[in-house]
This record gives sequence, structure tokens and C-alpha cells, in this order.
Amino acid sequence: MRTELYIDGQWVRPVQGKTFPTVNPATEEVIHAIPSATAEDVDRAVAAARRAFDGDGWPKLDARSRARYLRAIAAGIRKRLDELARLEVVDNGKPLAEARGDIEDSAGCFDYYAGLAEELAAAPAEEIMVSDDRFTSKAVREPLGVVGAIIPWNYPLLMAAWKVAPALAAGCTVVLKPSELTSLTALELGAIAAEAGLPAGVLNIVTGTGGEAGQAIIDHPLIDKLAFTGSVPTGSKVMAAAARDIKRVSLELGGKSPFVIFADADIEQAVEWIMFGIFWNQGQVCSATSRVLIEAPVYEQVMARLCEAARAISIGNGLDDGVLLGPLVSRGQYDKVLAAIEAARDAGATVAFGGKRPEGLDKGYYLEPTILTEVPADSAAWREEIFGPVVCARPFETEAEAVELANDSRYGLAAAVMSRDEARAERVAAAFRAGIVWINCSQPTFTEAPWGGYKQSGLGRELGRWGLENYLEIKQITSYASKEPWGWYLN
Ligand code: NAD
Repeated sequence: MRTELYIDGQWVRPVQGKTFPTVNPATEEVIHAIPSATAEDVDRAVAAARRAFDGDGWPKLDARSRARYLRAIAAGIRKRLDELARLEVVDNGKPLAEARGDIEDSAGCFDYYAGLAEELAAAPAEEIMVSDDRFTSKAVREPLGVVGAIIPWNYPLLMAAWKVAPALAAGCTVVLKPSELTSLTALELGAIAAEAGLPAGVLNIVTGTGGEAGQAIIDHPLIDKLAFTGSVPTGSKVMAAAARDIKRVSLELGGKSPFVIFADADIEQAVEWIMFGIFWNQGQVCSATSRVLIEAPVYEQVMARLCEAARAISIGNGLDDGVLLGPLVSRGQYDKVLAAIEAARDAGATVAFGGKRPEGLDKGYYLEPTILTEVPADSAAWREEIFGPVVCARPFETEAEAVELANDSRYGLAAAVMSRDEARAERVAAAFRAGIVWINCSQPTFTEAPWGGYKQSGLGRELGRWGLENYLEIKQITSYASKEPWGWYLN
């Protein structure tokens, strides 16, 4: 495990020599001392990224050459898939099979953006028809500069890949700060980039706290763009900081996403997708469908089956075979989720299943999968992100009521609907005020499709070609093509 920051192609100790502990959430043991960057380190990292951007190197490189580096990083990730997946489990707590999927998706993300870099190289300029035929005009897309990327802890390497891969493909240079709860695989990404021969300064990795390293990044005047994933309160600070220098900013924030189940849905499939929508990754998923609305005639049946299936989920250390629910990421998150369940009870909700530490697991941040019913629509449990394996369920009578309840939220990240009636599913999908909508499923995520939220769930889109646009500026180049003098002042 690494003990230094990755800056300007070198492993360097933080200027102040500080570290902070990272804890295995399954055992509560400290597993490593992570280098803690301060403003001085961020300054060095930004200077390196600036030099790499402003010189003749990375952004000027043919995009096809950049694609080769991205593919080499993808190959480096795949080569170490097992090791990286295990690091993710001991750092974050997620089950190993999920971690393997994340690492594979991270590699896939670098490969995908390598492909888009090649497309960018093949079609660099777009001819524009302007209204005066004495002029020709074209639009070109250029890398926008130095990116400060700040990410959360729920998908540590994957969230890094979602930002670093498109930014590098576009020709930007990056200063990446992982969450202080999960720094291990982000540091390994530095090693993989070095092995891939990535030029110095193109990718810099500074581990540290939000208050020190994070704040120094968002305040840094030489950064051109802030790409942030995390909570709404921090996102708001990031946007305010960006406003001072008119930095570009993209935000991927939280959610309280609804899942509408109609009575004609297959009950077994509905129950399985409800579970995948909220118990996968211990419910620590920004797009988790944490509010389930079930059409009244099948409400009791769905709930009974859901509780029965939740009881059968195997809980334990993510490294153990067959485990489907690991511990929550940290003591802080664990206490927050327990407090949210307690507050829901106080507000009048019923805990239909779970809500406490599983028997026999005395150490580790373990929580039973939790199902809340009779949750008042004005309570925090119904309205605010809990970010744990906690689902709120309630019945509805009509389609219009379901849509109204679904959209009654300050968030708008994701929404899901389940029905055998295709026309109805499409109608409800169109009515959702959310950036990601699933029909007859919840959560499957593809690198090729746009990702991002309406309302307070964010700003801009990641993934797909939209993810690349995040890191490009558009320049128009207009030429006076006529032989005639302009003839305004002189003729
Ligand atoms: P968080 O906002 O606490 O932290 C996110 C990152 O911001 C961390 O790296 C943290 O160190 C940093 N940070 C904290 N304070 C900062 C400051 N003042 N200046 C700069 N950086 C600062 O969020 P979290 O608890 O790590 O992650 C959970 C949240 O992330 C949830 O709300 C979840 O919904 C959201 N999330 C969203 C998506 C998405 O794609 N929309 C994906 C994953 C997670």
C-alpha cells in the first residue's frame, strides 16, 4: 500500500508529513496510514498539471496517441483486477463480487473513452452554415484545461475512472482527490498510470481530507474546471467556489429515487429489483431507489415477499464467499444511518424488517437490510437520502398519485417503474423528473449512456459522449472569405 502522493509523475511525501488512518469497516481495524495532502501539496499538483497542460505535450498530442495511453491504463487495471478488488473490499466493505464488477467497469471506462478520443481525432471540426455567405465558420472542440476532480467513497476506483478517463481523453490534465474514507485504489491508479508511461503531471493524485485537500482544490485559481461527485451540501460549496473564478463545474450529487411498481408486474421480479435497487453496495448508491411505491392491490403481497427475501440475504465480511451485504463504509456512516432509522420510528414509521445490527456480528459496521413502512411523506426518512440499506415503502391507488409522489422531491437523479403494460411504463418514464429512468429494472448502469441528475441531484452529465463534452471547450473559427473590402469605414 502506498504512503506517498502521486504528483508530477513522482511519488512524494506530503509537505507537512501528515497522515490519517483508513479503517477496514468489516473489522474496525486500522489498515493503513494514508498521506494527507494540504494546500502546499495541492499547489504542487496543480502546478504540475498546469505545466503538463500549457506545454507542448498532452493537449496537443494527437487524440489517437492519448487513446493508446488510456488503453494501457485499462490493461493495467485488468492485470491487477483481483488485487484492486480486494483492496476495494477492505477499504469500502462491499462484497468481493461487486468490487470485481466495479474494477472491470473502471477498465471498461478507460477503454470506452479511448474509443471516443479516436472519434474526436477523426472529426475535429464542424462546419457551420452562417447567414452571410462572405464568411465561413467552423466549430472546434478543445480540451478545457486543468481539472480538479473530487470523488466520494461508494465506488472508489470507478468514480475516479468516470472523471479521469474522459478528462484525459479530451486532452485535459487532472488533479484527483479521492474520499478520505477510501484512498487505496486511487493511489494504485497513480501506479498504473506510471506503468502505462503517462507523461508527468497529466494525472496527479492527492489523498487528503475534504476540509484541507478538497478545499484547496476548489479554491485554487489555476484550476479551470471542478468535477465533483458527492453530497448536496458539499456540491453547493463546490459550486460557490467555482463561481468566484467562473470555473467550469459539473456536479453529481445525491438522490432519493422512487421506484413505482404496478399491480400487473411480475411479483418475484419486482421484489428482486427492489432489493437490487437498495441493498446492492449496502444501499450506498446515489441512484438507489430508496422510495418504493407499490400499487395497493399487490402491496401486502410484495411487502411480505420482500421481508422474506431480505431475511435470507447473507451478511458478512465482503471477502467471505456468498456474502451479499457487507458493512457500511465507516463508523460515521453507520451512526448516521442508525440515527435516520431511529428518527423514522419517532416520526411514526414502522420497521417491517431489520433496523439493527445482525446477530452474531459484534464487530464491523453491519446493519440488517431494513424495510420501513407507514413512512410519513413529510418525514426526513421519506424525503432525505439515508445512504444505507434502508428502503421506505408505501401503497398508491392511481398512476397520477404515483407520479406525483415520485416527483415530490428536491432530488431528481433516478427513478424506476415496473409494469407489463409497455405504454404505461413509457408514460410514467416520461413523467418522471429525473435524469436516469429505468423500466422494469433498477440500477444497471452503462458507460455509454448519460448519467446525471435533475433538480438538486446535480449539474451536467457524465458518461457517454456527454461525459467527454464535460472536458471540452468549444471554439468558433470564423473567416472572412470574400475578396471584397469590408467597406464600413473605408471603401
Ligand atoms: P461528501 O460530499 O461528504 O464528500 C465527497 C468528496 O468531497 C470527498 O472526497 C470529500 O473529501 C470532499 N469534500 C468534503 N468537503 C469538501 C470541501 N469543503 N471542499 C472540497 N471537497 C470536499 O460525500 P460522500 O459522503 O463522500 O459521498 C456520498 C454522497 O455522494 C451521497 O450524497 C451520494 O448520493 C453522492 N454520490 C453521487 C453520485 C452521482 O453520480 N450522482 C455517485 C456517488 C455518490
